[in-house]
Amino acid sequence: MAGAKDAKGTIWVVAETNADGSLAKSSTEVATLARTLAEAAGASAAGIVIAADPKAAAAELAGYVARVVAVAEPKAAGYAWAQVAAQRAAAILASESPAVILTGAGPDGRDVAGTLSALLERPVLVNATAVAWKDGGPSVEMSVFGGKLITTSAFVDGEWGIVTVRPNVVTAEEAGSKGKVETQAPAGDLDLPLVKVVDQITEAAAALPIEEARVIVAGGRGVGGPDGFALVREIAAVLGGAVGATRAAVDSGWIPYNQQIGQTGKIVKPQLYLALGISGAIQHKVGMQTAGTIIGINRDPDAPIAEFADLVVVGDLFEVGKALLAELKSRA
Ligand SMILES: Cc1cc2nc3c(=O)[nH]c(=O)nc-3n(C[C@H](O)[C@H](O)[C@H](O)COP(=O)(O)OP(=O)(O)OC[C@H]3O[C@@H](n4cnc5c(N)ncnc54)[C@H](O)[C@@H]3O)c2cc1C
Repeated sequence: MAGAKDAKGTIWVVAETNADGSLAKSSTEVATLARTLAEAAGASAAGIVIAADPKAAAAELAGYVARVVAVAEPKAAGYAWAQVAAQRAAAILASESPAVILTGAGPDGRDVAGTLSALLERPVLVNATAVAWKDGGPSVEMSVFGGKLITTSAFVDGEWGIVTVRPNVVTAEEAGSKGKVETQAPAGDLDLPLVKVVDQITEAAAALPIEEARVIVAGGRGVGGPDGFALVREIAAVLGGAVGATRAAVDSGWIPYNQQIGQTGKIVKPQLYLALGISGAIQHKVGMQTAGTIIGINRDPDAPIAEFADLVVVGDLFEVGKALLAELKSRA
């Protein structure tokens, strides 16, 4: 399948699937990035799907990249997926000429990247917040020291490597035309030890997952306790949005961890982010700074959020929040 464009190497994506077999949202983003980089590099973009039944996800991935290799691997179900996927992907990539391999920076993507790095003896750049094509290779922006610094890194002297990409830093966009899907049978044994999944616990999810919400209303320490989140939830419900939180609120036990936004929580990119009683610490900011419009309600005009919000309403969040809720309800 190597074509003229492969001379410069192909931009590869190792895709992840959801429990129902569809393509993971993070992989739609990484695949969009792969295609954008391929266009800049004059190369082609390709993807790998390894799953017990890869059909649906492979068809979806072909909406983003020109070529998809799908491997039906029964062990991808019942065993920790990343160990299985990395071994199968390494076997495919060893006979290709990658210019770079991209994975998501979630738990599975990180595991795949680490195992691929060991198997292919290639370096990894982690947690990219942006990737551009420069001087024949990826130029990778990463946020380090808790978001205090942004670094730009590249692989040395024509080396190629693996890049993990943070969720929600790229907007997924399908290509104009569909790519081709090739199915390959799993070749050979899986040599590395596998981890058997003995039990799965599904955490009760919020009504609307914050990673996909177009509107997020978030509460911080300023809401004062679990009851303070009632107002946050009410405003979110009227706006058809999801509820987010800071680590301070999560650590206090006011709201579950799966709603935490920030460096050690989720990265979100809604169109509107309404922050109630949130100071805007750097570790929170790195999780929501790409939101379309950021509005804070804070009684401290000098809170750090004022430096990057589009608008800060200075006042008591309960007073302002209740007035806002009444206004929204009157317009609904
Ligand atoms: C390694 C590391 C990782 C971290 N990861 C994360 C992370 O993922 N996410 C995260 O959020 N944080 C994270 N943090 C914590 C972060 O540094 C901050 O401590 C945290 O974000 C602060 O949360 P907050 O804004 O709710 O609280 P505070 O900083 O205490 O701010 C509360 C704000 O509410 C305002 N306020 C109080 N009462 C009212 C009222 N009645 N009306 C209006 N305004 C009011 C105050 O003026 C203040 O600005 C991390 C920290 C470290 C060291």
